[in-house]
Amino acid sequence: MSAARPSERGEVLPPVRSADSSARIYPRSAHNISRAQISDNALKVLYRLRKAGFQAYLVGGCVRDLLLGREPKDFDVVTDAHPEQVRGVFRNCRLIGRRFRLAHVHFGQEIIEVATFRALNHEEGEGERVLERDGRILRDNVYGSIEEDAWRRDFTVNALYYDINDFSVVDYVGGMQDHQASVLRLIGDPDRRYREDPVRMLRAVRFAVKLGFTIHPSCAEPIPKLAYLLNSIPPARLYEEVVKLLMSGYAAQTFEQLRHYRLFGALFPETEACLAREPEGFPLTFLAKALERTDDRIQEDKSVAPFFLFAALLWEPVRTQAQERIRSGDNDVFAYQEVAAEVISRQVRYIAIPRTIGQPMREIWALQPRFERIKGVRPYRLLGHPRFRAAYDFLVLRAETGEADPDLADWWTRFQRADDAEQKAMTREGGGRRRSGRARRRRKGGASAGSA
Ligand code: ATP
Ligand code: MG
Repeated sequence: MSAARPSERGEVLPPVRSADSSARIYPRSAHNISRAQISDNALKVLYRLRKAGFQAYLVGGCVRDLLLGREPKDFDVVTDAHPEQVRGVFRNCRLIGRRFRLAHVHFGQEIIEVATFRALNHEEGEGERVLERDGRILRDNVYGSIEEDAWRRDFTVNALYYDINDFSVVDYVGGMQDHQASVLRLIGDPDRRYREDPVRMLRAVRFAVKLGFTIHPSCAEPIPKLAYLLNSIPPARLYEEVVKLLMSGYAAQTFEQLRHYRLFGALFPETEACLAREPEGFPLTFLAKALERTDDRIQEDKSVAPFFLFAALLWEPVRTQAQERIRSGDNDVFAYQEVAAEVISRQVRYIAIPRTIGQPMREIWALQPRFERIKGVRPYRLLGHPRFRAAYDFLVLRAETGEADPDLADWWTRFQRADDAEQKAMTREGGGRRRSGRARRRRKGGASAGSA
């Protein structure tokens, strides 16, 4: 190992490769990570492992984010201690995972994850590999060296190690230089690494957008032609990834990039087909707006419901298919219910939709045609529906992007604020609805949910 030489101006000069190892060492003076930015509990874990005679490093997203001066989401530790040895060091420690055993060290709310160095290749490294009788891997704890651990990671900037021994950053894969150039680059051959785990294509987009990095051309180029490989990923894993993509605070930009790389169509094929049919139309405006709204809410530390987002993402297929049924004579509320179930049942072949998400999605959709009924007792009933608020927000979003009647959304806004007498007047036959000629023409064109 050899040290990088910080220049007089403080920037990092290319480190010298040493003969015994490919690692480049960036000493404390050559990077900006200070211990003050690291969680006390993570420091405790690092120091305690070291005191027990083991190696201990921070690795992955936290090192990457610290180098950018950002606050990491969590702190991951790697060590040469095996999980059972880690448990021996900490009382507040639980071992989790069957396939990959990990140690979780608990400090109240905060959990520090401690992983043992793992090797990429099963032929290398020591450890146990237990197979079920059918050949499925039950446990796969193949431990390796820190260097092997670095090479099995996804992107170079995710494979930097912060050494608690001397506060240096250890780099086996050229991650520091990529970091300085704001480049996201897969370790090894991009084609092979994407085939090995197609989710890395989604991670490339997520990190590029979140960090403001460029995906290296060699890693960007294969994505559109390999996007279809996402179909081999278990839907439950894709659900987790999609939630991460959309709840990142950069959903609008992420959505654009997913479409650019043809990944969106591999995740939401029916929605993509609608967007492709109307490249500049309101389906796109509606989705862009829904995602921008989500980003704003995250920025303001407000809660965001994944069911609202998924309802927005699948709205266009639901709406167009329901409209078709209504045109052929089906009752509107019934049409929306039926189509909702069908669209969801086809979507879950790609991305799992947990029941807790699927139910409120269906409710939001099913309530849309009911907003059309503003006479008599029906508006009162709708107002009392547990999903009213989300469905109303959805209607407003539709109205803002020109797909639903803005006067109708306005009617509901006023209805909620009105006192008893005003509400009564509003719900009287023909009462209270202001309709512009423009809106009437739009509605005639079949633009709103219940009109057909
Ligand atoms: P985030 O800030 O989103 O948590 P992260 O880089 O910490 O970003 P994680 O999913 O928490 O991402 O993964 C932690 C680390 O594990 C990564 O930095 C990377 O080194 C490695 N890793 C995660 N997923 C993969 C993968 N699919 N292939 C290879 N390495 C991976
Ligand atoms: Mg992480």
